[in-house]
Amino acid sequence: MAEQKRDYYEVLGVGRGASDDEIKKAYRKLAKQYHPDLNPGNKEAEQKFKEINEAYEVLSDKDKRSRYDQFGHAGVDPNFGAGGGGFGGFDGSFDFGDLGDIFGSFFGGGFGGGRQSRNGPQRGESLRVGLTISFEEAAFGCEKEVSVDRVDQCPTCKGSGCEAGTTPEVCSQCGGSGQVQQRRQTPMGVFATTTTCPKCGGKGKIIHSPCKDCGGTGQQRRRKTIKVSIPAGIDDGQTISLRGQGNAGRNGGSAGDLLIVISVKPHAIFRREGTSVLCQAPITFTQAVLGGELEIPTIDGKVKYDIPEGTQTGTTFRLKGKGIPNLNGRGRGDQYVTVYIETPRNLNREQKEALKKFSQTLGEGNYEERKNFFKKFMR
Ligand SMILES: [Zn+2]
Ligand SMILES: [Zn+2]
Repeated sequence: MAEQKRDYYEVLGVGRGASDDEIKKAYRKLAKQYHPDLNPGNKEAEQKFKEINEAYEVLSDKDKRSRYDQFGHAGVDPNFGAGGGGFGGFDGSFDFGDLGDIFGSFFGGGFGGGRQSRNGPQRGESLRVGLTISFEEAAFGCEKEVSVDRVDQCPTCKGSGCEAGTTPEVCSQCGGSGQVQQRRQTPMGVFATTTTCPKCGGKGKIIHSPCKDCGGTGQQRRRKTIKVSIPAGIDDGQTISLRGQGNAGRNGGSAGDLLIVISVKPHAIFRREGTSVLCQAPITFTQAVLGGELEIPTIDGKVKYDIPEGTQTGTTFRLKGKGIPNLNGRGRGDQYVTVYIETPRNLNREQKEALKKFSQTLGEGNYEERKNFFKKFMR
């Protein structure tokens, strides 16, 4: 299984619908928090810094962002899921043009971190499900259905948690903020601390007649079947993210995503490396000697291919454009066929005699490699 990458939006701590400005702001804040110069020797900060930069590189680019929204990591990184570690194509370097501003504002003291209050909108959790598809389905794309247990908004109360005809009461103790301030006089001065409102438990409102279908939570757990379009060229271990198909958000927050992790079943004769299809094909002794037309299986069906006279075992032929389509929709890879000679078995006496007779007609000139092999050995 490929290494799981974090969602780029999650990395930058912004919503799916974040504007370019919001993304830039979030990036700057995090970049100065985790910049290696400010965290010398801190491996974790370094990783984080790379992750942040990688996320920004994609989300700040209109084209990349839209592909990421559609296909997740697989849409922006062709190496994703192909094994190997680390952060895909990111090589640790990036444009330092932006950092001038970052440090400008950092040393200027512009370090404003907003805290989210507990009763503010909260995004729903993203969910992850596995989906196994065939080699051909991965190559050409397909329509599938996945079932997922998720938290949905309660359809009866539409998420309000109140019985029909009633409304929640704004908490009188905190005025709806969900938090209360306490001021304490100490020998060192007055300290103000903020704590969760004890009356409403941080919700900011009190429901007197809770919805009977959800018990006032405004949410219900349900099993949902969701259609998913698998793009042609997807590979084993890659993830497709369906925006807003995860758990419902709270207090008006957006829903999380549904991440579909693809497993591709191995094929009986084809193997895949990126967009290349590899296969090994047996040929007869006669075909190898005389050359001629071979029938070769491809993911498009059988095709004819002419091999030359004197083809050796281990020779690889390329069938252009018979590989896997590129995930970005542009072009296809090639198929590579490596042939080997299947030595004929179970010959009868007559056939053996014929072969011996034939063999006697051959000389050194028919076996160049064998001749050279022994030449190298005898000194
Ligand atoms: Zn309800
Ligand atoms: Zn309250």
